[in-house]
Amino acid sequence: MKEVVYSKKLSIKKEYDVVVCGGGVAGVAAAVSAAKNGCSTLLLEKSNLLGGLGTLGLINLFVPMCNGRGKQIIFGLAEKWLRLSAELGFDAIPDEWKRGEPKEYTEVRYIQRYSPAIFAYQLTEEIVHAGVDVLFDCMACDPIMDGNLVRGVVTESKGGTELYGCRMLIDTTGDCDVLRRGGIPVVSGENFFTFSAKMITLDSCREAVEKGDIHCAYKGMSGGNINLFGDNQPEDIPRWPGLSAEDVTDYIVRNHLLVLEKLKDTDRRTREIVTTPGMPQFRTTAHLKGDYSLRVSDAYRHFDDSVCAINDFEHRDHLFEVPLRCLARRDYPNLITAGRSADGAGYAWDLLRVIPPAILTGQAAGEAAALALKTGTGVADVEIRRLQARLEKENVMIHFPDSYVPEDKTVVIHGKNAAEIDGGHM
Ligand SMILES: Cc1cc2nc3c(=O)[nH]c(=O)nc-3n(C[C@H](O)[C@H](O)[C@H](O)COP(=O)(O)OP(=O)(O)OC[C@H]3O[C@@H](n4cnc5c(N)ncnc54)[C@H](O)[C@@H]3O)c2cc1C
Repeated sequence: MKEVVYSKKLSIKKEYDVVVCGGGVAGVAAAVSAAKNGCSTLLLEKSNLLGGLGTLGLINLFVPMCNGRGKQIIFGLAEKWLRLSAELGFDAIPDEWKRGEPKEYTEVRYIQRYSPAIFAYQLTEEIVHAGVDVLFDCMACDPIMDGNLVRGVVTESKGGTELYGCRMLIDTTGDCDVLRRGGIPVVSGENFFTFSAKMITLDSCREAVEKGDIHCAYKGMSGGNINLFGDNQPEDIPRWPGLSAEDVTDYIVRNHLLVLEKLKDTDRRTREIVTTPGMPQFRTTAHLKGDYSLRVSDAYRHFDDSVCAINDFEHRDHLFEVPLRCLARRDYPNLITAGRSADGAGYAWDLLRVIPPAILTGQAAGEAAALALKTGTGVADVEIRRLQARLEKENVMIHFPDSYVPEDKTVVIHGKNAAEIDGGHM
């Protein structure tokens, strides 16, 4: 059997204003924002947990949301959820930032390491409170395209193959899965050998008891341990694009075997792996080829169509603005993306995709979708001042203040200047 024709006749199960595909932090932010603006909203999540890499993937750190000089840059839903996560789970907010932006100059950065499980449950609560319909264990598959318009999305779940209609589609699968299947242009990346589970040991439990802080019981247990820049990636390990079942499987098998090898050198009575990542810890799989691709040389540049200001999480001072054009394309009027699949190049993509900016671009995508439906425009053509005003009302910083820009605006990342990085020499 070399070829088969496999097709099904489907009727629309339910129509929504907005269907959000993928319930990572970006998708939850998008769904909540669309629903709060009165849109009937469906969120499709293929796993059983909201939060994506930030929960299921065990990446439980809000990277710095300030400029490294005591000034907060990232607010909006990212700030709200950082605070929420510290209410019930671990609270690792530095003392300097416990009560908001410090009055004194500080180089201590504004971060928070949270409980992945508790934060995931809190995201479920956010979705319920916002009135979003959510379907867990439900995979968003093909979009139904009518020329360049999306009319709905086909899903696979316990219920079989089904079709949900939509007026606006937000792809927050992190991998641009739905848009790729619809033939919308995307750009793919490469991933290094990185894998981290959570473990407890007798020593870490003792430390937790001594300090009276359960957080201390948890330690990371790595498989591949290669950093963001791919330093020391072994030559015999592939750099996975991560867009096929074979890639995902190869990544998982190699890491599981490596962790097992490491465990063989330890006493089994003294340690346990308590959680293992439920999704591949791939950073950069595929992103939209948007109307603009954010570059490192955009540091300190103001964009008229900015939807949020963000900061570099690794280096002090570096500030960026994210144009709406990174999330959408004029030629596809009713689809938008956010989070990991927003358009950025190289290290600028890294800056866009981490948890706090992913939440902000999700929030912007939800607001933009709602505004486009209300005013009858394409999502890339919404009245930008109106969108920015809505986001500002939700406490998002749209433009960073010029007083935060240092005199020396040179940007050096990992020993390379902006022109070298943007030229693809990272
Ligand atoms: C190794 C590593 C370390 C990192 N370290 C940090 C860090 O310390 N701090 C930080 O802030 N960021 C860090 N990041 C980045 C950050 O975790 C992610 O970029 C961010 O969480 C992305 O959020 P997202 O919502 O865009 O995508 P994702 O978290 O990828 O969420 C996508 C969601 O969509 C779902 N989904 C996928 N396909 C479908 C489909 N077809 N149908 C339905 N659902 C689907 C997935 O199950 C998932 O829930 C790290 C990432 C990695 C890989």
